[in-house]
Amino acid sequence: MTNKILNGMAIERNFRFFIIDSKEMVQYLSDVHQTSPVATAALGRQATITAIMGKMLKQNQKLTSIIRGDGPIGQMIVTADDEGHVKATIINPFVDLPLKENGKLDVSRAVGNGELIVSKDLGFPEPYNGVVELVSGEIAEDFTYYFSQSEQVPTAISAGVLVDVDHSIKAAGALIIQVLPNATEEAIIKLEEAFLKMESMTTMLQKMNLEEILSHIFATDFEILAEMNVECVCRCDYDFFIQTLNILNDTDIAEIKEEETVECVCEFCKKKYDVKTADLREIVSK
Ligand code: ZN
Repeated sequence: MTNKILNGMAIERNFRFFIIDSKEMVQYLSDVHQTSPVATAALGRQATITAIMGKMLKQNQKLTSIIRGDGPIGQMIVTADDEGHVKATIINPFVDLPLKENGKLDVSRAVGNGELIVSKDLGFPEPYNGVVELVSGEIAEDFTYYFSQSEQVPTAISAGVLVDVDHSIKAAGALIIQVLPNATEEAIIKLEEAFLKMESMTTMLQKMNLEEILSHIFATDFEILAEMNVECVCRCDYDFFIQTLNILNDTDIAEIKEEETVECVCEFCKKKYDVKTADLREIVSK
């Protein structure tokens, strides 16, 4: 499974951009978590943007984005690293809400009010945490606000997930454009004009590949610096669940040990592990 990302510069090198076609990744997340269409759109947008943010990191760094709203969807967590490995989980994947008046999925209502937390593991003892309020719950706007408030980088984001009537993914992707420190006023106006004229990501992805979309937006005034991939990878294993269960107190461990095995399910990839309770720590009886 691959999902292509292109990174480059545009409009006389005043901006950097990342553009991704994440259709396969969102389809995978939808299959694994059995998401309803509105949950697919919400988690898909978050995972798509977070995957790009992973690619903005340096070697051996990773980040986690958490969207914690008071809507029926509950919490969504996405982790991504610089190598393009992404994993995601959602509390309530079965949320079903009526469509908005314009016929679109009501992501904003499913997510509700709350906060977006970005936690970056940059290799220091403590992670770097940025927290902003959700401005709309539509995800792209929330991340745009995060970039301006928490990272102080003016950023434009267009992200979309188009779910077909049979719940399969018709198109998914995102474009993130960031203003570079020396950007001119003239270039910023040019970008704003281009962004206003732009169709939605999913509309463009249905008829153009990533290079064609870039030409459509910037004409010839862009250069691609790197082509990369992202994929959904979970590194859970048997030992992880042993360690996690061993954190429980003696009473809980004793109760678990009454059974020979205990079934554990990874919340990210839904893989099941039959943990042999004999592998858990011994209880020192007083
Ligand atoms: Zn897993």
